[in-house]
Amino acid sequence: MITVLKFGGTSVGSAEAIVRSAKIILMEGGGRVAVVSAMSGVTNHLVKFLEDENAHVEDALALLEKKHKDVANELLEGELLRGFSDEFERRMNALRDLLNDRDARKDPYFSDNISSQGERFSTLLLSYVLRSMGHGSVALTSEEAGIYASGSPGFGTADLSKTSAGLMMNVKPLILKGVIPIITGFYGRNSDGRPLTFGRGGSDYSAAVVANGLDADFLEIWTDVDGFMSADPRIVPGAIVIDEMNFGEAAELAYLGAKVLHPRTIEPVRMKHIPLKVKNSFKPDSPGTLIHHLRSSKNEMLRSVASKADLSIITVSSSEIAYRPRMVARIIDKIADAGVVVYAISTSLSTVALLINNPDVKETLKHLNLIAPEDIERIEVKSNMALICAVGDNLLSRCGVSAEIFGAVYDAGANVELISEGASDVSLNFVVPTDKAVDVVRTLHKKFVGE
Ligand code: ASP
Ligand code: MG
Repeated sequence: MITVLKFGGTSVGSAEAIVRSAKIILMEGGGRVAVVSAMSGVTNHLVKFLEDENAHVEDALALLEKKHKDVANELLEGELLRGFSDEFERRMNALRDLLNDRDARKDPYFSDNISSQGERFSTLLLSYVLRSMGHGSVALTSEEAGIYASGSPGFGTADLSKTSAGLMMNVKPLILKGVIPIITGFYGRNSDGRPLTFGRGGSDYSAAVVANGLDADFLEIWTDVDGFMSADPRIVPGAIVIDEMNFGEAAELAYLGAKVLHPRTIEPVRMKHIPLKVKNSFKPDSPGTLIHHLRSSKNEMLRSVASKADLSIITVSSSEIAYRPRMVARIIDKIADAGVVVYAISTSLSTVALLINNPDVKETLKHLNLIAPEDIERIEVKSNMALICAVGDNLLSRCGVSAEIFGAVYDAGANVELISEGASDVSLNFVVPTDKAVDVVRTLHKKFVGE
């Protein structure tokens, strides 16, 4: 039995938090591996340093040093404190050399390398704290563990089969010996052996990749919230924690910015049917959300309502688009060139409507305007739209569900601007003006989940 546990920045953000997380690891029976983020604030600090041309290397390092050493001095002593300090110093000096090396900055992966340094220190700290509690533990970097990634800077994707081979060779033997490996989250090594990050918040994904690679029995994501909720509690104070969800529902909610899990976390565990639990490390006794393959049907039609504001609908009109498939391809092609995220697409005989982030409108229009003028009649933009995502796994198999949901939207006095139904079998997505989004979420929640 192997459990992979992931601890986020706040769960290793202070001496108390680290002790709490170490105890959570020790509570678990069987083989254990932890994947850890940088201490809270550290990645932001590194990213700010990268953005500020006038920042001083020594100032940046001093803050990192103080943050980690304060915790070490509080929790470690004697031989262990000395061992930690030696290794910490080595890693700090490597970082110092890197920051002072003018040539290194020309490397396109330089930012990935710097922004992922915090994980090298937090893992060391947690590993030494486990040792101080009498357990064998080693801190491993992603390079040492064998987490392989490819992709452009800041957008890495793990190579699952290579990573699995790496983990089986470097990590599994440690687990079998009863040692607890503590692995850096957030990045893997690219084909040149250099750090490539998985995007901000990517340690959740790292943990799922490790669970996949080790064929783990369970993945626990320890964070600072109680789990997935039936709505954003800032909008719906009576929102409840969802006790159980299937992978599809969790993927939809994570994608729409529920901010509980990095959206790419689901796939690596879904592939191998590895159950995942989201838990609050500050309240280990609260049940959290279990995400797994099979869920006994509870006949809850709608499990959660999420919303995402600050979107725009771009509508491209051209005569008889439906009969000119190349035209649709050309439009999608231009959107791909613009490199923007599209949240929904809907087409009719003579229009294609696309839902994108407000700040991406300019870039998108620039590319769409490259299409020959005779092919396009009109391009319209409707800004300040919000996407509402109603999630529940019986949604589309039950007759009349849409009518009930849109009835509630009508009750909230909102006009539906665009609908995307059926693309995913667990969610019904539609767009309303941003100033109506809160009312719509509250009305739907009240009608289907409760006050
Ligand atoms: N430390 C990284 C970040 O803040 C990765 C993570 O937290 O998951 O983005
Ligand atoms: Mg973080």
